Amino acid sequence: MDWKAEVAKLPDIQAADREIDRLRTERRDLAAGKTVADLSKQVAGAEAALGRLRSERETVARQQRLDDLARQSEEADKKRLTERLYSGTVRSPRDLEGLQKNIAGSDERIGVLETRVLEAMERDEGLGARIAAMERALARDKETLSARRSEAAARIADIDTALGALEPRRRALAEAVAPPVLREYDRIRGRAAGVGAAVVSGGVCGACSVALPPLLVSRLARGDSLVNCEHCGRILVGGL
Ligand SMILES: [Zn+2]
Repeated sequence: MDWKAEVAKLPDIQAADREIDRLRTERRDLAAGKTVADLSKQVAGAEAALGRLRSERETVARQQRLDDLARQSEEADKKRLTERLYSGTVRSPRDLEGLQKNIAGSDERIGVLETRVLEAMERDEGLGARIAAMERALARDKETLSARRSEAAARIADIDTALGALEPRRRALAEAVAPPVLREYDRIRGRAAGVGAAVVSGGVCGACSVALPPLLVSRLARGDSLVNCEHCGRILVGGL
């Protein structure tokens, strides 16, 4: 067998294999959503935060309604007490004093409730503004995410087209190589980061960049057998 000629076919296969590997890896990452993972996470986080703020706002609103109802009921009590106070039907100073005390108590409670309602309104306003800002940011991020997903889908389609051309080309190249050489190439490729062959340049292995012993270089020049790099094990292809 003309080892030199067989081995000389490997760089083309190697180039096709590297490109196929690169495209398959890119495709896998795209399909797994890796390119949008950070943004997806951000959107999910923003949605959760928004949910919490909305529920906080609902709690504030519910409490505000309860406080407002309590205030109305307190106002009604106060009105009733005040009417009694000025009705002329209560004459005893002790009863009058009691009524006044109750009215004062009512006033105090009304004041407390009014303050709480006002505070709730302020909180509601603040929460409303924060929610609106978050909704705007979220809408923008969702739009970006959807655009990136479309880009990823388009890129996957491009990759499939490229692979559809590359894979038959690789098969054709492989068929032209003597089976023992191809088997050895595939075996090394499988355990050496996808690189099975290395072109020697200036006496240096093109895969691991280690200088080859002169004996190995001369064996490679003779071309009467398969020569592997002593350091990385790749099949050496003589450019010498
Ligand atoms: Zn090497």
